[in-house]
Amino acid sequence: MITKKVFLKTLMLTGSLIFCQAIMLTAQQAPEITKLLKLEADQYFADRDSAYLDPYYGLKKLIYGNKRFAENKSIKPRQTDADLKNNELGQKPFATIIGCADSRVPNEIIFDQGVGDLFITRTAGQVMAEASYGTIEYATEVLRTRLIVVLGHESCGAVGAAMKLPENPPGHVVTLINAIKPASLYAKKNASSADESLDLAIRKNVVEQVALLRNLEPVLSRRFEKGDVLIVGAVYNLHTGQVEFLEETITSLPRFKKQSN
Ligand SMILES: [Zn+2]
Repeated sequence: MITKKVFLKTLMLTGSLIFCQAIMLTAQQAPEITKLLKLEADQYFADRDSAYLDPYYGLKKLIYGNKRFAENKSIKPRQTDADLKNNELGQKPFATIIGCADSRVPNEIIFDQGVGDLFITRTAGQVMAEASYGTIEYATEVLRTRLIVVLGHESCGAVGAAMKLPENPPGHVVTLINAIKPASLYAKKNASSADESLDLAIRKNVVEQVALLRNLEPVLSRRFEKGDVLIVGAVYNLHTGQVEFLEETITSLPRFKKQSN
């Protein structure tokens, strides 16, 4: 039998859980990011053409789209069969996404974007090689896409595998393990628990990949330095559906560097 005391306690617990969830939904990004990007709590939409011209605005478009998805308010823009077949005008994607191949992270769905919006390269652990660099450079030089997002995700199997530091991974998997190894070693050294170390490795891997692209000669490093192209990192949460942009990859963008110091 449920006593009054237990009932009240359960009620309080449920109430605080709902409250926590509400806070999580409104606080999608870190306060510093919210301030710098001027994100508005009640805003859900950003214009497509402006996002293509201004990568800072493009970031807002991705964040608002993900907010729609996380809050079950997706509008699924330009995703009909007719939209897919209507491509005479070519493409003008406003963002390049370097994401993990994980089947649970479909980029257009989690950012609630449509056909022609995102230029996507996906490999396990979003590990990049020569062909990935060429693909990203094609987007910046030919398609004039000005926003690049490295997108990791929670419970990433590739990062998890790298954490085990296997001695003889099969076939070409060794390429992935070796690329993620520095992040996994960093996490093992700096995390206080196994769960925390996987999360830390996932974030560190993204931060390292952002740094790699920002310094990639000869195209991206120059573009990033001039402020033509923004390169940022984010991590997708498989449970809440939220994409969290990593603060250090936003505060270090040219426009915010001085404000944050
Ligand atoms: Zn993954």
